[in-house]
Amino acid sequence: MINSTRLQSHFEAMSLIGKIGETGTNRPAHSPDEKKAFELAASWMREAGMTTKIDNFGNLIGHLHGTNPELPVLMMGSHLDSQPYGGRFDGVAGVLCAIEVVMALKENNIQPTRSIEVISFADEEGWRFNKGLFGSKGILGKLEEGDLQRTDKDGITREQALKDFGCDITQFKEDEYKPGSIYCFLELHIEQGPVLDIANRPIGVVSGISGPLWLTLKLKGMAGHAGSVPMAIRKDALVGAAEIIIVLNEIATQVPGAPTVGTVGTLNVFPASRNIIPEEVTMTIDLRDIDLERRHRYEKQLMDRIEAITQKHQLTYTISEDTNSEPRYCADWIKEIIHAQCQALNLDAPELMSGPFHDSLPLSYCCDYGMIFIRSKDGISHNPLEYSSYEDLALGTNVLLGTVMEILKK
Ligand SMILES: [Zn+2]
Repeated sequence: MINSTRLQSHFEAMSLIGKIGETGTNRPAHSPDEKKAFELAASWMREAGMTTKIDNFGNLIGHLHGTNPELPVLMMGSHLDSQPYGGRFDGVAGVLCAIEVVMALKENNIQPTRSIEVISFADEEGWRFNKGLFGSKGILGKLEEGDLQRTDKDGITREQALKDFGCDITQFKEDEYKPGSIYCFLELHIEQGPVLDIANRPIGVVSGISGPLWLTLKLKGMAGHAGSVPMAIRKDALVGAAEIIIVLNEIATQVPGAPTVGTVGTLNVFPASRNIIPEEVTMTIDLRDIDLERRHRYEKQLMDRIEAITQKHQLTYTISEDTNSEPRYCADWIKEIIHAQCQALNLDAPELMSGPFHDSLPLSYCCDYGMIFIRSKDGISHNPLEYSSYEDLALGTNVLLGTVMEILKK
């Protein structure tokens, strides 16, 4: 069993770094506050018997040597960077609970055969440079053109921020993990949604990370005087947009209880004058589902309806696809182990998908992965009000410990 008092004290100490208000956190990626958080977490990693380093992508890595260092490593982790107006648990839970697991192994004199690593990945959140998952993509050699030239709001490039953090960007290759060198990846994370809280369950077993489809739709009609153009001959782009928003909502809710979500998050109206009929509307569409076939089906339904709605209002339109990622499923064998650990602790843990993405997403392309969700009070996250109880976090850490012990037998 893990030490829940120690775990809580680690959360409390970490919450002081980049603290805003009573319960908030602001720890930007590659910042002095993230460095302080790394130093604190590294001190706990060393207490747990790990060696520590910050690699050239700006990841903090704790390494516990196995008796057979040739074996692929069991990797756990998440991130210590936060949203600018974030909470104390997003990402932090996955790092601190993993460190606690290694502490428990040490206290029980368990020396694993394969090495264990705990990682705090750099810039998971992605708001500073408008693109996330930097560290987890980095170690897998998945960085893209222009990633280092992206700038933050002060005009600082990622390249400069990494240099200021002490990283050497010419050494990226040395820090990449070779294919086959990671046995599996485990991430404990707060749910960031209300499903577990509503079901009154502390722990959930993640089935996978749903893939978002991001579209930008541009509708074009005809501007005219709001006082004189008769309704029958109008080409009002905003009326078309309104119908499409309703239709997306209908499509995403046609199977009651299904995890499908559809959102129109932005709407730009041109020329945006109270007495001109809207000529042009640009809107974003976000459609997510763990079931890719269903998502494809819904996308087709949406396209058909957009075609019909635009015809009805005599609009023309263009659609561009900004992101199209597939859902990534957790490994069945890891889910089974997590379920068994929950049962051993008398926990009735439902399976649920993750709408947000996590560091597990890039990792899923190189190894099997599993995720444990901790209940979020009222489903609130990316907000100082984000809250998961220390009891729930301790339970989840015990599930993680049991899972690690089982995986170490393999
Ligand atoms: Zn997170």
